[in-house]
Amino acid sequence: KNRVFSGVQPTGNLHLGNYLGAIQRFVEMQKTHDCIFCVVDMHAVTVWQDPHELKNQIREVTAAFLAAGIDPKAHIVFNQSQVAEHAELAWIFNCVARMGWLNRMTQFKEKAGKDREAASVGLFAYPNLMAADILAYHATHVPVGEDQKQHLELARDIAQKFNNDFAESIAAHGFGDAFFPLPEPLIQGPATRIMSLRDGTKKMSKSDPSDLSRINMTDDADTIAAKIRKAKTDPEPLPSEAKGLEGRPEADNLVSIFAALSGRTPAEVLGEFGGGPFSTFKTALADLTVARVAPVTAEMQRLIADPGHIDAVLADGSARARAIATPIMDAVKDVVGFIRSR
Ligand code: ATP
Ligand code: MG
Repeated sequence: KNRVFSGVQPTGNLHLGNYLGAIQRFVEMQKTHDCIFCVVDMHAVTVWQDPHELKNQIREVTAAFLAAGIDPKAHIVFNQSQVAEHAELAWIFNCVARMGWLNRMTQFKEKAGKDREAASVGLFAYPNLMAADILAYHATHVPVGEDQKQHLELARDIAQKFNNDFAESIAAHGFGDAFFPLPEPLIQGPATRIMSLRDGTKKMSKSDPSDLSRINMTDDADTIAAKIRKAKTDPEPLPSEAKGLEGRPEADNLVSIFAALSGRTPAEVLGEFGGGPFSTFKTALADLTVARVAPVTAEMQRLIADPGHIDAVLADGSARARAIATPIMDAVKDVVGFIRSR
């Protein structure tokens, strides 16, 4: 009865944080769970997206999923806008969630910036759509990066409030005492929060205006090496123990990236590089990053060259996603008290 759901936005500049914090985890989860991986294009348009670019970006994220090793036959890979139940359930959740809950969301505050009056209503309601993404499939586990923890807690609150508000109707329709499961966030591993290469206090982000702040999944070997060489550090040599990384966010970040890419612990990485200068470590990190990223990039480029194939994968995944979401959405309509003729 375990089902995984997770999504990545096609907002361009897919980066190493997305790969290590999300996509690489998705690949592992395929072995133990039934998984649904979604290119969340409706989330992307909460901020302006050029329509032509958006199509390419949807295909790029899909290609990254496949290139990283997600099997679209054994699991489901699709883009959100092809399954109308996401929008339908999000509307119900707009009516369940409270303004006060959403007002506390830090992602909205960060993304809206100073001029909050000018932010789209969609950017504010984003977490309700995210709750709908997960709960339209009764998903139980959601692998995400640390930055999505607050949204996951909100999704649980929404599920809980729906179950309570409609408890009588849920029981009357034979769905027992809880309609929605409370989804569990899975925030695990050494790479739950990869930081910007320019500022160790900000997360690596697609939307950071500085391209030097992130390693893009489409960067070539020279670009990757140059970005790591220029990455901000402090003047001290690397510590020889992991606790020496406290208060040194840039050093901590680079060691975490090395650990995540090599499958070792930060302590093991420092066992090799501790006490030495950043320059030696950075050269090794650049080589490792290129070795891990280049094959994925090459496979992404090969897949993107055939957009027809990618679109066919998304069409097939969407049909299979719909087959799960439609009966759940029908049940929601019955519980809420709507009339439906289908
Ligand atoms: P945007 O800036 O457009 O929000 P993003 O880089 O945050 O882009 P998303 O598509 O919002 O990417 O997130 C996709 C997944 O990647 C989520 O599970 C998110 O938690 C994870 N993720 C994003 N940034 C990082 C990061 N710096 N480190 C680890 N995981 C991350
Ligand atoms: Mg994000």
